[in-house]
Amino acid sequence: MSEEAVIFEWDTRFETGLDEMDRQHRSLVVLINSLVSVLLSDPFSRDGLDRILEQLAEFADTHFAYEESLMAEIEDRSGLDSHRASHSTFLVRIGEAKKAGTERPREAAGSLLSFLSRWLVLHIADTDFPLARAILGKPPDPGVNEPTSSFDAILLAMNHLFDNLASRTEAIEASRKRIELEALGRQRAEIEFNKLSNAVGHCPLCILVTDSKGIIEYVNPKFTDLTGYSVSEAIGSKPSLLSSGRVSREQYIEMWKTISSGQEWHGEFVNRKKNGELYWDRASISPVFDSSGSITHYVSIQENITESRIAAERVRQQKEFSDVIINSLPGIFYMLDEGGRFVRVNRQFPEVLGRSEEDLLGTNALDLFAGDDRDLIGKRIAEVFEQGESSAEANLQVGNGRSIPYYFTGHRTSIDGRIYLVGLGTDISERRILEKKLLEQARTDMLTGLPNRRHFMELATSECERANRYGGPLSLMMIDLDGFKNINDTHGHQAGDRALVAFAEVCRKSVRINDIPGRIGGEEFAVILPETDENRAFEVAERLRRALAATIVKAGTGGGFGFTASIGVAARADDSELDRLISEADRALYAAKSSGRNRTVIFRRQPAS
Ligand code: GH3
Ligand code: MG
Ligand code: MG
Repeated sequence: MSEEAVIFEWDTRFETGLDEMDRQHRSLVVLINSLVSVLLSDPFSRDGLDRILEQLAEFADTHFAYEESLMAEIEDRSGLDSHRASHSTFLVRIGEAKKAGTERPREAAGSLLSFLSRWLVLHIADTDFPLARAILGKPPDPGVNEPTSSFDAILLAMNHLFDNLASRTEAIEASRKRIELEALGRQRAEIEFNKLSNAVGHCPLCILVTDSKGIIEYVNPKFTDLTGYSVSEAIGSKPSLLSSGRVSREQYIEMWKTISSGQEWHGEFVNRKKNGELYWDRASISPVFDSSGSITHYVSIQENITESRIAAERVRQQKEFSDVIINSLPGIFYMLDEGGRFVRVNRQFPEVLGRSEEDLLGTNALDLFAGDDRDLIGKRIAEVFEQGESSAEANLQVGNGRSIPYYFTGHRTSIDGRIYLVGLGTDISERRILEKKLLEQARTDMLTGLPNRRHFMELATSECERANRYGGPLSLMMIDLDGFKNINDTHGHQAGDRALVAFAEVCRKSVRINDIPGRIGGEEFAVILPETDENRAFEVAERLRRALAATIVKAGTGGGFGFTASIGVAARADDSELDRLISEADRALYAAKSSGRNRTVIFRRQPAS
């Protein structure tokens, strides 16, 4: 601050009548006024003070030399000493001011001003007026007729000046103090403001301030970075600058309703950058109130959540993709956590169970199995987590006591540091049926449908073992069709085959439910009869033989033919092996053949002699 301060203007009543003297006094008044300007300067002008001190020293040299010369002209020497004392005081004070000015310049300038104003009053009134009157040859005191009562007038003017000066000095001092305090406060506020604006400027969030009508007044650097709009483009616009057209009107209405009622609003926006790109932000908008409680501004803080939105979208797409894959798998897909609970399944799985997916998730896998299968699956799941993979066949309980055979696979996998089992279950019902069929085929004679030799031998062996174990009776029939070569020769091989089928039919009907017939060779058959002694077996054999003898087979040339069989029967002796039983029945059969055919012979053991 610099001000051309004029504390007082030159008044003609200050004039002594000596031009040179008055000129010098005028120059001192100019210096005093300049000193006031220096005192009011902010920041304080050290140079200004130094310049004035130099000029005061020059003034002193010139003025005092001039007055010495005047004093030498007059006779009266009475005031000389006090005049000189006054001069030396002036020089001393200037020296002091110079010294004090280096440390506390404003204080030094203030006290110098005070001194100079007093000195000027006293010096002109006390010394220079009488001196000038003497030089001009006037009496020491002004006469009553003289127009100017110069002494009183100057004294009065000077006293005014002094008062004026003193009050100004006080005011100057007060304003200086105020300025200093203000500066201090301003400095503190500036520090706070800098801190805040630094924080806002470096904030990773977008900050936008609007007035109460929604006109943007401030945006932080992050906002300009993100949106591509410059500060000048943003300021004065409305936030709809960023509108993507993808936010519903309802959302805007709800937002305005919330914030204009003085509440904070939180929500998400899809916005558009200056380059047209879309981005997502999570905004929190709060109103700012003045001291009377009216809303003056709205502050919106926005977090750019585009990346997390994109990541979430990517995850969603990946899930959708994997859903497509697992739902198109030919079977049930499952993912188990380490506790054996379902964490993910495909659509087929709950469908197979007749349950909802929500219901299935969290269920322990073991709960879908019963009996031995439950133990087996428990072991196999543990194997997957321990060894990396395993598989099992087990019946999946699908409710209402029903179960479906499945082939289950399991592979260990880790996702986000956690271990899971993923696998596929395939319905093996059809395979089971096929297997059963194949087994059946492997065991059955294709022509007659009776157990084939191998299977018959298995069944006969286990019956024999059982009889040996429990000690019950057991009999075996060996059957050979009579004159079969001849049948083939007479009626053809196909008719022979029909005869074989007819025999099987008759045999099945003639034997009892627990008796097991089998085809053990071309036209040789056998029947094992559990819990049956030789006499009972003989009855069964005879029933069969008679029924066969009454059977007519269609001949290839038209008409029909009959045929017979010879049967040998043997009953199990204690601990007899199947082989022995067979050979004994064979021997009885041979006896039946040789004694005329179409008959049953029981093998009779020779009583031990
Ligand atoms: P025997 O009364 O002594 O038993 O006289 P046989 O002619 O039956 O003599 P043998 O038991 O030795 O001969 C069995 C014949 O059965 C031989 C074969 O041509 C016939 N044969 C064996 N298997 C089949 C078959 O699957 N189909 C037909 N059509 N004939 C068979
Ligand atoms: Mg034979
Ligand atoms: Mg035969």
